[in-house]
Amino acid sequence: MNISEFTGYGDKMEQLMRSVQAGRIVHALLFVGPRGSGKRTMARLFAQAMLCKGREPRPCGVCPACKRFLAGSHPDVKTLRPEKKTIGVDDIRDLIDYLSLKPYEGGRHIAIIEQADSMTPPAQNALLKTLENPDGAAMFFLIAEGDRGLLPTIRSRCQAVRFRDLPVEDCAAVLARRGVAPERARMLAGMAQGSVGRALELDADERAMALREKVLESLETLRDAASVSRAAALLEDDKGAEGDILDIMELWARDRMAAQAGAQPYQAGEYDRLVKGKIDGRALLKGVVEARKRLASNVAWPGVLENMYFDLINKENSGRTTLSWQR
Ligand SMILES: [Zn+2]
Repeated sequence: MNISEFTGYGDKMEQLMRSVQAGRIVHALLFVGPRGSGKRTMARLFAQAMLCKGREPRPCGVCPACKRFLAGSHPDVKTLRPEKKTIGVDDIRDLIDYLSLKPYEGGRHIAIIEQADSMTPPAQNALLKTLENPDGAAMFFLIAEGDRGLLPTIRSRCQAVRFRDLPVEDCAAVLARRGVAPERARMLAGMAQGSVGRALELDADERAMALREKVLESLETLRDAASVSRAAALLEDDKGAEGDILDIMELWARDRMAAQAGAQPYQAGEYDRLVKGKIDGRALLKGVVEARKRLASNVAWPGVLENMYFDLINKENSGRTTLSWQR
């Protein structure tokens, strides 16, 4: 993996990296963005590139410094993350002590602070002094989902870089480059709504993929009023997964609408299932919205589900929605 592989950020990040390497930049970068948007991966790439002693383009990935970094054993890197909920002032003092030593390999110290917005105010004030009086050797990477928890004085001493979720297409491309089969990459990118991190989690999450399969099976079982309880029974026991089930249905509904309109759906690998599906996308989407409302007002899940399924079947019978039932 190198920096140019960050679709949607490539040029910007490469420029930033050149500035960092040329020492043209403040020695603290603040990477802010939603979970799974790549900020931690990018911070680690920057850190690795700064320590790399191999050939350009850096990080080379094969020199001893890169190998130590990737193994988590580089002596000049310190990563802080909240052990419980916060990073306290003692953690920052330990970090400052560490930074007062000479870098072991003669280059720079790298300090990576994950969930930086979880630093307590005293911790932030302690860090501030180090940020204000750089002794030259340390480079700080602060990573946070949002910067509201950070003191303005901290924010003003960092160069902020904003991350966002990618368009689904770009997310799929990133996954494919990481070795996920293209069709699965599209499906995962769609399910994760463009969050690369979330998509990779899903890829490794057997339970999530099995749940998705069960949801699709349930929707395919739903054919008429007589099949409602059988279709609903497939999902009624998944206590605690109601939200996930509705999310999966929502994406399926949107993809179904795309397929019905002749557009390329996200879950293109399942195109056959999408176009052959009996349930109308728009009707399902409405059903999902309604089901979320009922859940929020404490209607029991089996009731919510059966209600939604009966509505879907009734819409079909009343002819208010167009159903295509292709073979
Ligand atoms: Zn290297």
